[in-house]
Amino acid sequence: MSALIVVEDDPRIGEVLEYALKADGYSVRTTQRGREAVKLARDTEPALMILDVGLPDIDGFEVCRLVRKFSEVPIIFLTSRADEINRVVGLEIGGDDYVVKPFSTRELLARIKAILRRQNAAITSPTNLFHYGPIEFDPDRFRVSFHGVEVPLTKQEFKLLELFIRHPGRVFTREQLLDQAWGEGGVVTDRTIDVHVKTLRRKFGDFDFIETVRGIGYRAKEL
Ligand code: CA
Repeated sequence: MSALIVVEDDPRIGEVLEYALKADGYSVRTTQRGREAVKLARDTEPALMILDVGLPDIDGFEVCRLVRKFSEVPIIFLTSRADEINRVVGLEIGGDDYVVKPFSTRELLARIKAILRRQNAAITSPTNLFHYGPIEFDPDRFRVSFHGVEVPLTKQEFKLLELFIRHPGRVFTREQLLDQAWGEGGVVTDRTIDVHVKTLRRKFGDFDFIETVRGIGYRAKEL
């Protein structure tokens, strides 16, 4: 669920907004004060901010300037006066969009959705996902699939696999594999590596990609 911050000193507008946003499935924090808004933005890492320009303590422009020092959270301004609109439209403020009062909540909801969609697209692509033969490795989602079917792996198996298939052909000693997958100071032995490699091999069936290098360690085949 996306968490939004609504900054609006008119309690009627604030309530209507909060109600509409919650009905649409967002979690909402509302405040009437600019300084409180900056604090909330810092403490709660919201998905988006709806920010009235005219506030009793510091105005929305100042709030935006302060928030931009530590956060790229999307900001939609609520504005009513022509001179405010001109400043918002002039890009120096750092807002992402604006709606003019009186506005329809439906319009505002559409703007919010559009911005969050863009935001999500930016996060999920480009991705760090890569392929090694029939293996698809997605480090961001901690997911591995083999011929399109997800393979459940333990954390250590995941790390070992990543090490192997990111560096096909490179030989890793058991000690290196231990350091990488378990971190230093672990209580595991060389034998542990052998057991994990065996499990990894089994989980990928006929795709026999991990080679034993006698007396040294293991490597992934160069495909
Ligand atoms: Ca106001």
